[in-house]
Amino acid sequence: PFDVLVVGGGPAGASAAIYAARKGIRTGIVAERFGGQIMDTMGIENFISVTYTEGPKLAASLEEHVKEYNVDVMNLQRAKRLEKKDLIEIELENGAVLKSKTVILSTGARWRNVGVPGEAEFKNKGVAYCPHCDGPLFAGKRVAVIGGGNSGIEAAIDLAGIVKHVTVLEFAAELKADSVLQERLYSLPNVTVIKNAQTKEITGTDKVNGISYMDRETETVHHVELEGVFVQIGLVPNTDWLGDEIERTRMGEIVVDKHGATTIPGVFAAGDCTNSPYKQIIISMGSGATAALGAFDYLIRN
Ligand code: FAD
Repeated sequence: PFDVLVVGGGPAGASAAIYAARKGIRTGIVAERFGGQIMDTMGIENFISVTYTEGPKLAASLEEHVKEYNVDVMNLQRAKRLEKKDLIEIELENGAVLKSKTVILSTGARWRNVGVPGEAEFKNKGVAYCPHCDGPLFAGKRVAVIGGGNSGIEAAIDLAGIVKHVTVLEFAAELKADSVLQERLYSLPNVTVIKNAQTKEITGTDKVNGISYMDRETETVHHVELEGVFVQIGLVPNTDWLGDEIERTRMGEIVVDKHGATTIPGVFAAGDCTNSPYKQIIISMGSGATAALGAFDYLIRN
């Protein structure tokens, strides 16, 4: 069996595997797609000490770093079941069952898409999901934020300090964000909030030039000219394959303690699949290291 089996090959999983392998213990990593979300990322400017890189390039460096160590890399394999017996079992979609003394879950998350024409086409060409990452690219420009929940309103407040104008589009009749955020939002001069707005299309030529929405009360369609659209309608953790024994938040995020431990002894978790409040590459890597050291501590005590 493995000493540490990492499930997920993004920044969190790669970091966990390296930290585990450096302890000289038997380490494996299973990933549906090695690299994770960064495979879909263009410019990265906030991975500290690297002024600029691109997602696929960073993913290649992660893989190269992992391969420096004696890590059993099982790419293009999806885990579908976790069960704690004497050892922890991970069953893969292909039927294989891997056994390990400890497991680190780092299956990440995915942004919920609005699913309108133009969204996929203009991804990285004006359609963005992460204000911390891509906000500065829209300095002095006009943007829309789709979604009036906490993440949408936080994004709108954040962006209002950088861009020329922010239009918030909320599907429902009211914003769902906390009232303190709403108060802050309404105090800003360069923000327009449109409620009852159903996004219909993100328009553009080679890049985004506007957004169309339907006013759900009057059923009329309007078009706003702008250069960027931030989709903020939720981040979905890839944790639906896990059973009930592992505690998760209402949003499905795995609850971890300071050591990265979950509610199942020997099972740790790291990165965007956990209840970590901020979802970033550097944060995922840090939590991957924490989970690996947590797992090592667990191994020497059990
Ligand atoms: P992920 O990167 O989501 O990796 C999850 C891994 O688990 C993948 O290998 C996946 O294939 C695998 N997996 C999932 N389910 C299973 C399963 N059942 N079995 C086996 N494997 C599974 N952050 C920044 O810091 N700076 C940026 O500029 C930046 N830009 C971004 C741009 C975009 C478009 C996106 C989508 C995200 C961006 N982020 C950025 C966020 C950053 O990519 C994430 O915070 C980070 O990738 C999280 O790492 P992770 O390892 O926790 O999860």
